[in-house]
Amino acid sequence: MNTLIFIFITLLSLFLASFLNVVAIRIPKGESIVFPASHCVHCEHRLGPLDLIPVISFFLLKGRCRYCQAKVSYIYPVGEMFTASVLVYTSYKVGWGLELLIALPLMAFLASITISDLLYKIIPNKVNLFFFIYFMMVRLFYYPQPPLTYLIGMLVGGGLLLLIAIVSRGGMGGGDIKLMAVVGMALGWQPVIVSFLLASLFGGLIGVILLLAKVVKRKQAIPFGPFLAAGIFVTYFWGNEIILAYLNWILRS
Ligand SMILES: [Zn+2]
Repeated sequence: MNTLIFIFITLLSLFLASFLNVVAIRIPKGESIVFPASHCVHCEHRLGPLDLIPVISFFLLKGRCRYCQAKVSYIYPVGEMFTASVLVYTSYKVGWGLELLIALPLMAFLASITISDLLYKIIPNKVNLFFFIYFMMVRLFYYPQPPLTYLIGMLVGGGLLLLIAIVSRGGMGGGDIKLMAVVGMALGWQPVIVSFLLASLFGGLIGVILLLAKVVKRKQAIPFGPFLAAGIFVTYFWGNEIILAYLNWILRS
């Protein structure tokens, strides 16, 4: 990918990330993403273009509102930088082609639900539904695997988590179940299973570390969405290598 395209994608990703941040922060609160226009949550002053440059405005204004000097949450620039890095990496790794129609929205989706789940412990229905419809439409005309793979993916993804929710009596939220149904529709049933296993592994490891560090108490619920997102991210880029390595290991032992 040449440098100019790379810079263009980086800038575009930053603005997209900033928009997704707004989605992640406003939708769970039941607010519209368009109205009111971006404003300071303290003084409600409407923000101008110079206040809305992703990441840069935050540092130029030293993390304060230009109008009332109230502190702006660091979640905005951190969320924007995180989302933009994921999008830039994805464009670079996937390269130019139809697959970007799946890869970029998928990563945008994962970044947005990670922020919502960390902030509010919610994966919004509206966001799940929006991406579900989007991926279903793309899969109507672009399917590297037989179309049925994606339909089964939706059933396996949603079904697996629903089963765990029933068995664990609410250990898994409705948002998580729908999230995995959406991802099944986007990627098919094989990646959904690998993602879930990886997410459980990550969740278990981090859970133990947080318990030992006494950051969380036993029985305290940790949002599972970010772990699912991490599992899906790793599976999307390295899923085949992981499956091959695993099969090799089984066959040798
Ligand atoms: Zn203000």
